[in-house]
Amino acid sequence: QLCINQIAAGEVVERPLSVVKELVENSLDAGAEHIEITVEGNGTALIRVRDDGSGIAPEELQTAVLPHATSKISHIEDLDTLATLGFRGEALPSIASVSRMEIVSRTADSALGARLSIENSEVKNFEETGCPKGTTVTIRDLFYTTPARYKFLKSQGTEFGLISDMVSKLALTKPAVRFILKHAKHTVFMSPGDGSLRHVIASVMGSQIAQKLVPVSFCNEHYAVSGYLSMPDLTRNNGNYQVLMINGRIIRSKQLRQAVKNSFHTLIPHNTYPIVVLNIELSPSLYDVNVHPSKMEIKFKQENELMTFLTAQLNKAVLDGRK
Ligand code: ADP
Ligand code: MG
Repeated sequence: QLCINQIAAGEVVERPLSVVKELVENSLDAGAEHIEITVEGNGTALIRVRDDGSGIAPEELQTAVLPHATSKISHIEDLDTLATLGFRGEALPSIASVSRMEIVSRTADSALGARLSIENSEVKNFEETGCPKGTTVTIRDLFYTTPARYKFLKSQGTEFGLISDMVSKLALTKPAVRFILKHAKHTVFMSPGDGSLRHVIASVMGSQIAQKLVPVSFCNEHYAVSGYLSMPDLTRNNGNYQVLMINGRIIRSKQLRQAVKNSFHTLIPHNTYPIVVLNIELSPSLYDVNVHPSKMEIKFKQENELMTFLTAQLNKAVLDGRK
């Protein structure tokens, strides 16, 4: 039967990447320090995310997979000051409606954990079990209930490429969290989780690049910017090495990319991109996030002011760095 969850699922769960993103964000929201992601094939066979976060109490486990059963937001006004990555309580029910899901979880204050198995939104099994503190969510047979969605997926290389790219980016937002990504029994990515952004950059882009980047840090009364920047002698011919965050969340922004590029003036060829990992802290009242499930699109309220400030300060960093 086509239920309301499957309709919502189309929005939240577009491809295996979306499942990994939602599950990892839940682990981060739960305060995890270690997150291990296992993927088989293009992700439809298996996605497993294991964390050492706060866990879910047995009596809350069954409600966690019901629509809008979020524990993270109580008033819509909270949206402005949202500290967690999730808030809609849509991810688990949506994923559960298009897969076979198993959640095993234990909180610190309970001796036993619980295991919940769901197929196509129906609870198949619920039992107490011994397990480490934290949560393991396993998704099998993704999209087996929605063949049209399944057919739309690209090759294993493409789907897993998107996943590993996303995991690297999430790792860059959380240097204190240790991420491990496994595919076909191999560890393909590991971040050290020692709190050093440069070390995460080294694990994502290689230590050669990480060594050459220059730290930047500047602020005014509205914006505090920090991160790493390459000098004009180290550029790439695509924008994949530009990671931009607003208040610790990865975003896409043509304007920010342009500001970064402008700060190099004529120091780099027109068709090349500097490498940059930048986080901008600013009051949530100064931008709108599109409340689309992907939460990536952003609109700044004082865009020109921010871009001028960024371009000028980054340019100064480039000129200082070359001395
Ligand atoms: P949201 O993240 O928007 O609240 P989800 O559907 O992603 O909604 O998750 C529902 C609820 O399940 C969360 O609010 C949280 O209480 C719980 N939960 C999900 N994943 C985890 C996890 N890895 N660790 C602890 N709690 C979790
Ligand atoms: Mg969530």
